[in-house]
Amino acid sequence: MTAENVCFSADYAEAREKFLAAARIAGAVTKSYPNPLKGPKGESLSTDVAYIGDRKAPKVLAMFSATHGAEGFCGSGAQVDLLTSGLLESRSKDTAILMVHAINCHGFAWIRRTTEENVDLNRNWSDYSKPLPENKGYDEIADWLVPSSLSGSVFDEAEKNLQAWREKKGDTAFANCVSEGQFKHPKGLFYGGTGPTWARRTLEAILTEWAGHSSQFAVIDYHTGLGPFGYGELICDHEPDQAATARAKAWWGESVTEPRKGTSSSNVKAGTAPAGLERALPKSDVTYIALEYGTYSRAQGRKALRDDAWLHGYGDPLGPEAPRIKAQIRKQFYPDTDDWREAIVWRSRQVVRQALAGLAQSNR
Ligand SMILES: [Zn+2]
Repeated sequence: MTAENVCFSADYAEAREKFLAAARIAGAVTKSYPNPLKGPKGESLSTDVAYIGDRKAPKVLAMFSATHGAEGFCGSGAQVDLLTSGLLESRSKDTAILMVHAINCHGFAWIRRTTEENVDLNRNWSDYSKPLPENKGYDEIADWLVPSSLSGSVFDEAEKNLQAWREKKGDTAFANCVSEGQFKHPKGLFYGGTGPTWARRTLEAILTEWAGHSSQFAVIDYHTGLGPFGYGELICDHEPDQAATARAKAWWGESVTEPRKGTSSSNVKAGTAPAGLERALPKSDVTYIALEYGTYSRAQGRKALRDDAWLHGYGDPLGPEAPRIKAQIRKQFYPDTDDWREAIVWRSRQVVRQALAGLAQSNR
């Protein structure tokens, strides 16, 4: 067990405790945003904020964990490491730190990628007063992606149909329509929902309260599940011609990738965070980056997500199938090994250091 590893936790409740303790050590002001629901053991749930620095600082650097609940094992560990490593003290005087711990606290506690509404928070930032994007490919395969049974003829038939569709349309079309986001199948995968979730509304309130004053707002949003094992890819989901994309490249250099240019392990998605954050912070220049750490294969990920969607959509999340399915999800989004955690911490510190340097040089 290395010094870095003590920052990581075995479950949501331990992660929350470690985060609040680390925030106190770092001299942060904290505030909790309770979620009305409970965790699987009846535990209370809340999103917690830690703020370090001048409350009127014109520049704010934020770190979000657990946008995708189960990915919070990684993001929370990285946040605790940053709070205890001393690195944040190197920020310039005009910069404050805003840590949002477990924004999707329900998903973190239940070891799910989605929110309590089965919504993918990073597909939930659409403007719901406007027509929602279509995903015709997903419509075709929806019933096979998450079948009503995980065994027997229903399951076998679904797998066969999925394979045939994939052979006909190709692997890229398959990967894109599965994960680009869909708004019609509430029990399905990568579902964007019919309106803002609790997690989105809470994050909007947090941003207004803690960063509404800022002129520069930068976010590192911690994710896991795509790309090479342990590598932290910096995914820029702003439009290629936006000033935010130019800022991201200036701060983080050549390792920034862009789904819209086909340079990322992630495809183009509907309802992602950047547009939502820009709406929530109209006075700020928002620079958003997803720090996406690789784990295991996409094929393995799809199966883990399928089983979990089945468990919550058709099964019993506390029933006899739950332990196997939850262990699968947990491993897919949090490889519980020392080498992986060491890679997480190393890259996280590098990315934060680069962001602080970038913000320090900015004139706004
Ligand atoms: Zn994610």
